[in-house]
Amino acid sequence: MPKRSNAPTVDPLSQAVTALPGVGPVVAGKLAARGLLSVQDLWLHLPLRYEDRTRVTPIANLVPSQPAQVEARVEAVERSFRYRPLLRVVVSDDSRGTLVLRFFHFGKAQLAQFVPGRRILCYGEARPGQHGLEMVHPSYRLLADDADAVIRDRLDPVYPAVEGLGPQSLSRLIGEALRLLPPAEALELLPADLRARLQLPTLRDALLTAHRPPPDADLAQFALGVHPAQRRLALEELLAHHLSLRRQRIALRAHGAMPVRPPGKLAAALGKRLKFKLTGAQQRVLEEVARDMSRPEPMLRLVQGDVGSGKTVVAALAAANAVEAGRQVALMAPTELLAEQHLANFRAWLEPLGVQVAWLAGKVTGKARTAALAEIASGRAQVVVGTHALMQDKVVFSSLALAIVDEQHRFGVHQRLALRDKGLDGSQVPHQLVMTATPIPRTLAMSAYADLDVSVIDEMPPGRTPVTTVAVSGERRGEVVERIRAACAEGRQAYWVCTLIEESEEVEGQAAQSTFEQLGQLLPELRLGLLHGRMKPAEKQAVMARFKAGELQLLVATTVIEVGVDVPNASLMIIENAERLGLAQLHQLRGRVGRGAAASSCVLMYKPPLSAMARERLEVMRASTDGFLIAEKDLELRGPGELLGTRQTGLASFRVADLVRDAGLLPTVHEVAETLLAEQPALADRLVRRWVGGAARFAGA
Ligand code: ADP
Ligand code: MG
Repeated sequence: MPKRSNAPTVDPLSQAVTALPGVGPVVAGKLAARGLLSVQDLWLHLPLRYEDRTRVTPIANLVPSQPAQVEARVEAVERSFRYRPLLRVVVSDDSRGTLVLRFFHFGKAQLAQFVPGRRILCYGEARPGQHGLEMVHPSYRLLADDADAVIRDRLDPVYPAVEGLGPQSLSRLIGEALRLLPPAEALELLPADLRARLQLPTLRDALLTAHRPPPDADLAQFALGVHPAQRRLALEELLAHHLSLRRQRIALRAHGAMPVRPPGKLAAALGKRLKFKLTGAQQRVLEEVARDMSRPEPMLRLVQGDVGSGKTVVAALAAANAVEAGRQVALMAPTELLAEQHLANFRAWLEPLGVQVAWLAGKVTGKARTAALAEIASGRAQVVVGTHALMQDKVVFSSLALAIVDEQHRFGVHQRLALRDKGLDGSQVPHQLVMTATPIPRTLAMSAYADLDVSVIDEMPPGRTPVTTVAVSGERRGEVVERIRAACAEGRQAYWVCTLIEESEEVEGQAAQSTFEQLGQLLPELRLGLLHGRMKPAEKQAVMARFKAGELQLLVATTVIEVGVDVPNASLMIIENAERLGLAQLHQLRGRVGRGAAASSCVLMYKPPLSAMARERLEVMRASTDGFLIAEKDLELRGPGELLGTRQTGLASFRVADLVRDAGLLPTVHEVAETLLAEQPALADRLVRRWVGGAARFAGA
C-alpha cells in the first residue's frame, strides 16, 4: 500500500485537542490552562507514576507501604466525629485478613455505598494502624455481586492533574490522543544510527510504553526515570532545547555587530580612578570581553563570578570602551534596588570622566521619563542604567553597542533577547554581556547557556576575611540578639533577614514589620531600618542610603536584599528560617557580608527539629564559602529548578527531562546537536518545533 506509507496529512503539532472525541471548548479550556493545546501536548503529558492493578493481593500478604490491589467484602462501617469526620470501613477477604479503609472527607452518596456484604476492589498503600493494616483514602470501586473484578492488562498511569478534569477523563483523552499517533517512521526524528548506538526505542514505542507500560515493565526503573522509554524522550527533549539555543546563537551571530576597538583611554582613566587594582581574574575576563567586542560579530558572553568577586567594575570598563568608540551602553538589573546601586557606581566612576549616565526604571514617569527617552534616542545618554523598563518598545537607542544584563538568572531567556533587539539597526545587534553570581556546574552551564560563551571570575579581591558561618537554633534567639548588640557597639552593622517561603510579598513584609518592632524593643539603643518588597521604591532607596551611610545599624529585611546589595561595613548577618532556603539563595544572602576588612559572620537560625536533609544543607553552608562547591551540592540535594530559579529559565520547564537525573545524556546531546546543525538543519528545525515550539524565538527568523 504505497500511499499509506506517507506521513499523515494533518500535522499533529497543529492538530488542536478539539480534534479528539468529547473535547469541546470547555474541556479544551481546562487543558489549555495546563498548557495542553495540541494532540501532541497530550502525548507528552507523561504519567507521574503507575498503579499496578494487573493483580490482586490477598490481604494477608499485604506489605506495609507497598501499593497493592485488594478484592474484599465490606464487614463493618463506622463513623465518628471526635475531632473531625472520620469514616472507617472494615473489609476482609478469603485470606482471613482484615483491612481498615479510612476516609476523612466523604459525601453522603459515598457513605451510602458502603453496605456490609458488598464486594469492593480497592487500591492503595497499606500502613500499620491501630487495629492492624489500614489504607487511607484508597481508590476503590464497588462491584456487583456477580461481576468479575476486571483486572487490568496494563499498568494504570497516574497523570499530573488537570484542574477540573477527573483523572479518568484525562486518562481517556490521552488514550484518544495516542490513537492518533502516526506510524513509527513518520514520527521519528532521531537518526537510526544514534538510536541503535544508545539502544533507544523509537519515539512511538517510547510514548506507548511510557503511557501504557506492560504488566512486566520494570516499575523501579520508571520510578528512577531511567527506563529506556524515558531516556529516549529525555534525550530528544534535551536535544531540542539545546538545538534551539544553539540556533539562536547562530542566527544572532549572522547579524554582525559593530566592532568596538578604541585606543582604551577612557578605560585607562577609569582604572586610575579606582581605589584598587583589578585581580588577575578580573583582568583576564576583561580581556576576553574586549576581544569579543572588537569583532564584527556580536559578543554573547556570560561572566560568572561569585558574590563579591567584582563583576560590576569589569562591566564598567567594558562600557567605557563602547563609550569611547562613540556608542551607547545599556545596563539592566532585575530589581530597582540593584539597578540604583549600579547607577550610583556608574555615575561615580564615569561622570567625572565626562560620560552621561541616564536612568530609566518603572518609577521614572511623566516629564522625567520623556526627557530620559529623548536623551537615549538622541545618543546624548551614553550609558543607560535601568530595570525591565529598558525593554519597553518606547525605548529607542541611537547606537546601542553593548547590552549588559546583571544577575541573569533572574531574567528569562526571552528578556535576554528583548534587549538584544534594541540594537537592531539594519543588520547589527549589540554585543551582549551577561553577569551572574549563580555558579552553575559546568555540564549545566553548557545546557543552560548553550547560546553564550562563559568567562569565570574565580578569584576574590584581596584583603577579605572569609565569612564564619554558624547554625543556631531559633531557641537561642536571645543570644543572637546579644551578638548584634555587641557588634553594633563596636561600630559594625548587621542585617536581619526574615524569610517566608511560598508566602506572598505582602505576608513577608508583615513578618519583617513585626520582627522589626520586636527587635526595636530588644535593642532600644540601636537605630533600626526596615526593608521589604511592599515598600515604595523611594522609601526603599532612602533606607538603603541611610544604611550605607552608617546611620542605620541594623537592617531588618526580607530577601529583597539578596541580590547585589553592597555595604562593606556590614559584617554580621542573621538569616531566620535558614533551613527553608535553597543553598544558592543562602549563599547569595551571605554574600552581603564579608565585603570589608572586618571579620564577618553569618548566623543561620533554624527552627528545630531539623530534618536530615536540612541538617546536611546547613552543614554545607557552614563548611564552605565556595559558590561552585555549594552549587554542586545544591544540585545534588535539590535539583536544577531551584538552582537556576524555577520560573526564570526556560530550563525548569522540561516536560520529561531532568537535568540532574539525565546529566549523563548531556555530552551525547551536545555532540549530536553539532552534527545535526551541520548536516541536517531541517531535521534540527523539526525537533525544535516539536519540543520547544512557539516558546522559542529565533532572532531574525
Ligand atoms: P559582584 O561580583 O558580587 O557584583 P561587586 O562588583 O559588587 O561584586 O564588587 C564587590 C565589592 O568589591 C565592591 O565594593 C567593589 O568596589 C569591590 N571590588 C571590586 N573589584 C575589586 C578589586 N580588584 N579589589 C578590591 N575591591 C574590589
Ligand atoms: Mg553584582
